[in-house]
Amino acid sequence: MSTGKFGDYGGQYVPEALMPAVEELTDAYERYVLENEDGFMEDFRERLRDFGGRPTPLQRADNLSERYGYDVYLKREDLVHGGAHKLNNALGQVLLAKYMGKERIIAETGAGQHGTATAMACAYLDMPCEIYMGRTDVNRQRPNVYRMRIHDAEVNPVDIGSGTLKEAINETMRDWATNVEDTHYVIGSVVGPHPFPEMVREFQSVISEETREQAQEKLGGLPEAVVACAGGGSNTMGAFHHFVEDEEVDLYAVEAGGSSLTVDAEEGYAPHSASLSTGTEGVLHGARTKLLQTEEGQIVESHSVSAGLDYAGVGPELSYLVDEGRVTPANVGDDEALRAFHRLSRTEGIIPALESSHAVAYLEDLESEGPVVVNVSGRGDKDLDTVIEESEKRGIEEAPDMEVYL
Ligand SMILES: *Cc1c(COP(=O)(O)O)cnc(C)c1O
Repeated sequence: MSTGKFGDYGGQYVPEALMPAVEELTDAYERYVLENEDGFMEDFRERLRDFGGRPTPLQRADNLSERYGYDVYLKREDLVHGGAHKLNNALGQVLLAKYMGKERIIAETGAGQHGTATAMACAYLDMPCEIYMGRTDVNRQRPNVYRMRIHDAEVNPVDIGSGTLKEAINETMRDWATNVEDTHYVIGSVVGPHPFPEMVREFQSVISEETREQAQEKLGGLPEAVVACAGGGSNTMGAFHHFVEDEEVDLYAVEAGGSSLTVDAEEGYAPHSASLSTGTEGVLHGARTKLLQTEEGQIVESHSVSAGLDYAGVGPELSYLVDEGRVTPANVGDDEALRAFHRLSRTEGIIPALESSHAVAYLEDLESEGPVVVNVSGRGDKDLDTVIEESEKRGIEEAPDMEVYL
């Protein structure tokens, strides 16, 4: 059995009650995913194609290329069914649970993106689905709650603490520990105890597998750099994986710089979520990794204008690749992300997710001799309310002038 260690990072820091669950899952992951037992991987790929709409295009962004003086290519994960890369993983895990003979799926969600992707995959594969979501998040994300309900998922509001992602994760872990026999817990990023970081990366690595092939075809070789945003890091590891061995390809993980890179240790608050750039080593959600914490080891509350990047930790493999010098951490603030959101919408006809806008924004800082691939992890229709409000509040110049319509 693989150990799930990336240097010092990773591992299985879980309560005794969860050990049987992670061991059973590790065994199933090795058999079905790594050894392709019962043709699991062919089945997965066919469903990614027919249900998920893969492969997604690698598209040259003509106007951005002109702006930056090097070729910019966009990996269009915004075109995956559901509007983001999240389905790649949700579909893989729900299908794996079916192969394992599980009869019930649970998951947690913060902003609702992962919950929606899981609910969608469960409806498609006819699996009962329950999503845990903090009460505060339920109240501020009503359309996403409705979306999950449309797909016939139960949404369980969590009334503990601040009623956000952290509490929802704890409740889902508790449910899993009590219902190990018939239940699979779908984690939404390359985080959590082994085998999740490796398994989610395998499901998401279809992104770099396609990109590599498409680059050979379109550029006649490898790109100079690949840029992706990092919350937990699943689109990031997915976009990087098949390039990690190609030392000549630079890999940039762009985190949310929020409003500044400071930490208010006394208040336990950081106005950013740049765990790769500023975090320290600790254990969060079952794995050792880089995270935002006080000197006493309390997890600090993070912030980003984009809900999907707002997480105090990051996947252990990314932490390791940063320490090894293979991945360069970068960060982009809220305002720059909003500007990039409008820039891509205006000049290329693509509305990016606010998460993806961080990756797009990094092009403003990046100098390159050759072609650069940016992973557009999702589409931004879900972010319009936030963008309208925040662009006006911050006086973002690139935003459309709406005054005559008031
Ligand atoms: C959830 C989400 C992210 C952040 O998650 P990662 O695991 O870091 O990829 C990025 N982009 C979009 C569109 C998302 O929905």
